[in-house]
Amino acid sequence: MKRILPVCIVMMTAFNVFSQTAPAQPKLVVGVVVDQMAYEFLYRYSEEYTENGFKRLLREGYSCENTHYSYIPTYTGPGHASIYTGSVPAVNGIVSNDWYDENTGQFVYVTQDNTVTPVGAVAGNQQSPRNMLTTTVTDMLQLSNQQESKVIGIALKDRGAILPAGHTADAAYWYDGAANAWVTSSYYMPTLPTWVQNFNAQKPAEQMMNRYWNLLLPPTSYKSATADSVSWETVYIGEASPKFPHYMNFTGNSEAIKGTPFGNTLTANFAKAAIENEGLGKDNVTDFLCVSFSSTDYVGHAYGPHSVEIMDTYLRLDRDLADLLMYLDTKVGKGNYVLFLTADHGVSPTPQYMESLNIPAGTTTEVMMTDTMNDILHAAFGPGEWIKAYTNQQIYLNDSLLLAKGKTKKEIFSALYEPLLKINGVAYVILINELGQATLNSNIKELVINGIYPKRCGDIQILYEPYWFEAYRPTGTTHGSHFSYDTHVPLIFFGWKVKPGALYRDVQVTDIAPTI
Ligand code: ZN
Ligand code: ZN
Ligand code: ZN
Repeated sequence: MKRILPVCIVMMTAFNVFSQTAPAQPKLVVGVVVDQMAYEFLYRYSEEYTENGFKRLLREGYSCENTHYSYIPTYTGPGHASIYTGSVPAVNGIVSNDWYDENTGQFVYVTQDNTVTPVGAVAGNQQSPRNMLTTTVTDMLQLSNQQESKVIGIALKDRGAILPAGHTADAAYWYDGAANAWVTSSYYMPTLPTWVQNFNAQKPAEQMMNRYWNLLLPPTSYKSATADSVSWETVYIGEASPKFPHYMNFTGNSEAIKGTPFGNTLTANFAKAAIENEGLGKDNVTDFLCVSFSSTDYVGHAYGPHSVEIMDTYLRLDRDLADLLMYLDTKVGKGNYVLFLTADHGVSPTPQYMESLNIPAGTTTEVMMTDTMNDILHAAFGPGEWIKAYTNQQIYLNDSLLLAKGKTKKEIFSALYEPLLKINGVAYVILINELGQATLNSNIKELVINGIYPKRCGDIQILYEPYWFEAYRPTGTTHGSHFSYDTHVPLIFFGWKVKPGALYRDVQVTDIAPTI
């Protein structure tokens, strides 16, 4: 937990220059999370960004250029929880997007809550922030003023809306493709507000689909991206090749908007509707709007961070951000709101692309790893379900079988250790209980420890080499590792009382909540 305190002091110094005209507190705080936005996206497409989106944030805001995640796995649920709680999974309990529960023998989805009912959503879409053990900065705002603030979370992804808005939120809305609507949970309210019903009644997603996704700019503007149709890109549903123009087929596939840049536009439009209809930033009690742009993640997974598709998605997000900032200037007033922009994790370059450049990279699969581990354990200890689950690169051992057969976790670990290290791409195999003694670089060790909440985690951790991961499909890419391409994210503060500037020393994502 190094460096947290000094960074906060530096940040306070940076913000302690009070302007004469600004109100004593901002009318609105806007948290913007761009899902899967690696740091380099702030600059890689600079030439094609407008002056009023990312460039405006950098020009008028305060940018912490070396902001990193301090735990693994660098996934969406833990990322949003870390940003808003100022803590790591070891403290907030959000150890992944889903984990195995040894008591029930079931996998738990990060925001799954069977005690609540869906509101506007299809059956089974039951969500709340209850699995998050700590308070968020949004909770602390509500605790400071008897819940007089309005706090709303918005994202296409449920977890991207629910975790940021916290336990005391007025609402979290996410997009349910099956319902073709923005939806919520009985955790917050019994029925959707009229303005949300009206918004949904316009069928805004459908209006953006059933047409071609064309390049925003002339093809010559995409010099920062690789060729369009390469073998590691995922083919969009119903298409012959992963190539522009992409036909966005919505019919019978209403989730599809998520995997296009227009999912971000839909999110921005819904956020503006929330500001308007909920009167966010209208009175003198500070409100908090948490917006997470999920489409960058879907597009990034499918085509990779060097693709034309992801470049086009960022160019369009830049325009959406410029528009949102302008809207906030008009509706809430320039200087009356403070905004931060960051990401929930970065992304790995596509392994096949790296291999094409002779850079070591590759993939395994969860199934291949599980089969290998079962084979090893059956050969060593005989038949039986020695492994209850393998997920998030963690092995959950069968405690009752170990007890019945008189085996220790260390014996199982010893049997697995050498054979697993022989698998291409595997760098480390670690017995989590003995992490302290593991021969492991201290920075990596700290990231692993920060990600462990014992009740929800497994017994053995596997770490991969750079640009290696367990792929869930043969094309595209993912994130989750301790490498800087996954941990290094943008962080910009902008607006109310923020002086333009930049900080180049190390900052951790857990610094965001206390700074806000
Ligand atoms: Zn994410
Ligand atoms: Zn393509
Ligand atoms: Zn992702």
